[in-house]
Amino acid sequence: MIKKVGNTKVLPKHKATCHCGSVVLELTLPNGIENPRRCDCSICRRKGAIVGSVDLSGIQILKGKEFLKLYQFNTNTANHYFCSNCGIYTHHQRRSNPNEYGFNIGCLEGVNPFDLGDVVTKDGVNHPADRKAS
Ligand SMILES: [Zn+2]
Repeated sequence: MIKKVGNTKVLPKHKATCHCGSVVLELTLPNGIENPRRCDCSICRRKGAIVGSVDLSGIQILKGKEFLKLYQFNTNTANHYFCSNCGIYTHHQRRSNPNEYGFNIGCLEGVNPFDLGDVVTKDGVNHPADRKAS
């Protein structure tokens, strides 16, 4: 659990925005940033974001719901959201745990995700849901 990133305190209710500001989210992060990671699955390797985790109840859309676009692929289980104006990925409902959102740590106001230092990379290529029983 990370309560401070660089000089920025992670607030229990922390705002997150896309790049153009059309989308504003409020994240409930009582324990700070939990489980920050990168992932090498086909979508994450392209977007390159460092992602944190929050319960589904932990994201409120304050502004710009109409700008959020849903992207789905493969099993159409995960819901990937991005701003349709500036293209920035904000959050996604996970396939590995549908009770959780992953969110773009780079969208948190005042937080520089590179201040987190080394972050683990999840083995998304070998997603548990893609493994076939042999
Ligand atoms: Zn935007």
